[in-house]
Amino acid sequence: MPCEDQQVSVGRFAPSPTGMLHIGNLRTGLAAWLFARAARSRFLLRFEDLDSATVQAEHFESQRRDLEILGLTWDGEAVLQSERTERYEAVLSDLDRAGLTYPCWCSRREIREAASAPHHTPGHYPGTCRRLSRIEKREREASGRPPALRLRTDGGEVEIVDRLHGSHRAPVDDLVLRRGDGTPAYNLVVVIDDAAQGVEEVVRADDLLSSTPRQAHLMDLLGIERPRWAHVPLVLAHDGDRLAKRHGSVTIHDRLGLGDSPEKVIGELARSLGLSVPEDEIRAAELIERFDPSSIRLEPWTLSPRQMTEPW
Ligand code: GLU
Repeated sequence: MPCEDQQVSVGRFAPSPTGMLHIGNLRTGLAAWLFARAARSRFLLRFEDLDSATVQAEHFESQRRDLEILGLTWDGEAVLQSERTERYEAVLSDLDRAGLTYPCWCSRREIREAASAPHHTPGHYPGTCRRLSRIEKREREASGRPPALRLRTDGGEVEIVDRLHGSHRAPVDDLVLRRGDGTPAYNLVVVIDDAAQGVEEVVRADDLLSSTPRQAHLMDLLGIERPRWAHVPLVLAHDGDRLAKRHGSVTIHDRLGLGDSPEKVIGELARSLGLSVPEDEIRAAELIERFDPSSIRLEPWTLSPRQMTEPW
């Protein structure tokens, strides 16, 4: 799959500033950057910082710095979602006016219980609040608990095509558009922001592949053209869990502390993606000409205990 055949003009990386970027985030960032730069596209940085309970102020800067250390440059100023809430609310009002939303008072436990009924699609909202009678609705309103806002869907399947995984179909349920605490939900804002920033190729970790049909459905409703998607595999620790601080030297600073150079880290990340890198150390910019998306491996990269505690 040579990348010259389909020129795209904007790619992006959209980390959540909730901690230091770890090797898995950096590897996704490298892949997103290579897809964009190899296609001579612009590459944008967007901080997904709406979840005020988990965002940590110092990590806007630490994440920028870590990308810079690895030579993953971006174009223009980074965008902060927390500065765009008016836009999200405007789209929510449009969906509301079109009769496509409804309030939902269900707690997580209620959803879990209702969703455990036979013939129910696991992980899907069972539609409880969509079917409330007027009296039930009034009771819930009187409870004082602020409702979430959900999208009204028909539960049909939506198919998306991913550059790495091919076709992926999934039924789309009544997804949350705004949480009960007032925060616009990820699936909504990612769609609005990618469209607003002109993003034509979304490269991100494949734990988000299952959310993509939901996003595609929203795009179709909002008249937004679908981007191309490439979901790259995750990095796992030897215990099979996603990489975390407790596993060892998982940040770029940890790696530098062990004596690995930024070029050594780039070389390892690139090789782990399946790219051919005979050199021991290499700069990100030197990978652009050789980048071939078809060589990207689809299995997760599992780090051994040694890889997490000793120099690469
Ligand atoms: N903010 C998400 C993350 O850090 C990425 C979302 C996306 O790329 O669409 O995992």
